[in-house]
Amino acid sequence: MSFIHVIMNRLILILFLILVLGFQERTDYKATREKMVKSQIEARGIQEPFTLAAMRSVPRHKFVPKGLMESAYKDSPLPIGYGQTISQPYIVAFMTEIINPKKDFKVLEIGTGSGYQAAVLAHIVDSMYTIEIVKALFIQAKKRLDDLNYHNVLIKNADGYHGWEEKGPFDAIVVTAAAEFVPPPLIEQLKDGGKMIIPIGTPFTTQQLLLVEKKKGKIKTKNLMFVRFVPFTRAKDE
Ligand code: SAH
Repeated sequence: MSFIHVIMNRLILILFLILVLGFQERTDYKATREKMVKSQIEARGIQEPFTLAAMRSVPRHKFVPKGLMESAYKDSPLPIGYGQTISQPYIVAFMTEIINPKKDFKVLEIGTGSGYQAAVLAHIVDSMYTIEIVKALFIQAKKRLDDLNYHNVLIKNADGYHGWEEKGPFDAIVVTAAAEFVPPPLIEQLKDGGKMIIPIGTPFTTQQLLLVEKKKGKIKTKNLMFVRFVPFTRAKDE
């Protein structure tokens, strides 16, 4: 066999291995994700079809630091740097189901973090807006959401306390950091008939996940469950 042939054969073998390993990785994560949905989400009572479909398709392993990819589908939150976390899969599904998202919804999230909750919602709704206060996390999440083709997500780097007035009012608002009270601008930016979900309580303890509903201008609230979120922080110059 000529030298060229040997090189060609090697190249073909290497290409084949790359293809097989790449495919294997994709199928493995898909199987792991399916297991996560069955054992952590459906088993705990989540039934809303859009929520389940989104949880089945968003590649959670691409929203965690490289070294934690193997843990991405575990039943827990994970660190994403800067003292922040990506929420536990069940909590993401629960918060998604509770706002009962529809395709024509406009949704605001406060606390982009990794961008995972925003991606799950963007899978369902037409217009997704999300605000992150930590600049480095904002930059990472923006790139990640662009790379993964979530073109219906608009993200900004700001203190989410003020909401996003120019883009509101919103059908639903999802807050993924624990506040001591519901920021009034967020209530104002909720549509009539809209729902907000927000963890309320003191930082570093457990908080109550609160459902806030606006009906004919009146506000109704309901405690849903105990949760543990990272604190809602405020911009220093305010
Ligand atoms: N939804 C995220 C979870 C993020 S953890 C995910 O799916 O990965 C909460 C995030 O809220 C952190 O990234 C934190 O920096 C951010 N945050 C805290 N206070 C904020 C505020 N006032 N405005 C915007 N983001 C805030």
